[in-house]
Amino acid sequence: TTEYTDITAAVTREKGSDFVLEQAKIRAPKADEVLVKVVATGMCHTDMIVRDQDYPVPLPLVLGHEGAGIVEKVGPLVKDIAVGDHVVLSYGYCSKCSSCHSGHEAYCKEFYPRNFGGSDMEGNNAIQDADGNPLNDHFFAQSSFATYALSLESNTIKVSKDAPIELLGPLGCGIQTGAGAVINSLKVRPGTSFVTFGAGAVGLSAVLAAQVAGATTIIAVDVVPSRLELAKELGATHVINSKEEDVVEKVRDITGGGALFALESTGIPDVLRQGIDSLGTLGTIGVVGAPALGTDAGFDINDLLLGGKSIQGIVEGDSTTKIFIPQLVELYLQGRFAFDKLVKYYDFEDINQAAKDSAEGTTLKPIIRIA
Ligand code: NAD
Ligand code: ZN
Repeated sequence: TTEYTDITAAVTREKGSDFVLEQAKIRAPKADEVLVKVVATGMCHTDMIVRDQDYPVPLPLVLGHEGAGIVEKVGPLVKDIAVGDHVVLSYGYCSKCSSCHSGHEAYCKEFYPRNFGGSDMEGNNAIQDADGNPLNDHFFAQSSFATYALSLESNTIKVSKDAPIELLGPLGCGIQTGAGAVINSLKVRPGTSFVTFGAGAVGLSAVLAAQVAGATTIIAVDVVPSRLELAKELGATHVINSKEEDVVEKVRDITGGGALFALESTGIPDVLRQGIDSLGTLGTIGVVGAPALGTDAGFDINDLLLGGKSIQGIVEGDSTTKIFIPQLVELYLQGRFAFDKLVKYYDFEDINQAAKDSAEGTTLKPIIRIA
């Protein structure tokens, strides 16, 4: 007989609807699975686009993919993680395909089913609602808007107990996406120029990382004045409100002809176009903003060609999570990566307020305190 643990889970039952806290249960870990007592979970725009079904993950569903907590129980095949460890949960990957073998697990051939499938790879769920009906789960191999989450050893990242565990969940997605885009994907170099289109959680993490990487011109573009103010506090050398100014002209002006590195994190096709137009010769723009599946964007082919420009799609900052997340924790502990300035905490019962504040732009990175 299967063992279960009683949990409280925030369930998304219908497209676009509020989260409902429900009593449910989750089965015990098998094989290489880990059961984590969730301390806190970040809320990311990707939770919202799935709630709104821009990505059609089946409902009813337990979202949450920036979990952090304490290991409660491990399956018999788990080797390097023990009960009591502090862990951050990140995205799922297969460990077996050519992308995973080459250190690019974010481009795993099974990325979509393992993170957006709504079940495990066999199509089974681990969570049941109060009536005994299965809830779609395994969202980003965790579904961490719940008091307990089931992950795999591969996406369960052991972190230092010197750092406050309730803060660390967003490293598993939004923060590593912005930071990794700059450090791992674009490989921003000392003395260069970097511009982020979108100064949300991802874009501002990129601003922090651009300083770590040594960029000397760091420009943040957004339409919300408070976000631009924060960008300055976090180290942006210039900010542009694209509602008020011609962004392309301004970036060209500041950088003396165009930026060498850029990141698009708004998911808006016209903003991507502005980003490409803002690049200088041999410039590269990373694309992390995620619009609805099937969205097209345009650019001037000859401008791209003659300028030697590159457009690079980026998933999860191309992070090898077991290496990169502990590095970000260490940078934070050394005072060189102040991502705590992006965060606002909410109690679990206020999860809908967190979603609302995030949508309205008053909160950058909500963290839901769960235990
Ligand atoms: P966010 O909502 O906090 O940030 C988006 C920012 O864009 C906001 O500050 C908003 O004001 C700004 N913006 C809106 N319109 C703009 C415009 N016309 N010009 C300039 N700025 C504008 O979201 P986030 O959590 O930072 O996530 C950003 C995007 O990245 C989302 O689409 C999310 O789904 C995606 N994401 C992708 C990955 C990945 O692996 N590729 C991972 C995490 C998040
Ligand atoms: Zn995310």
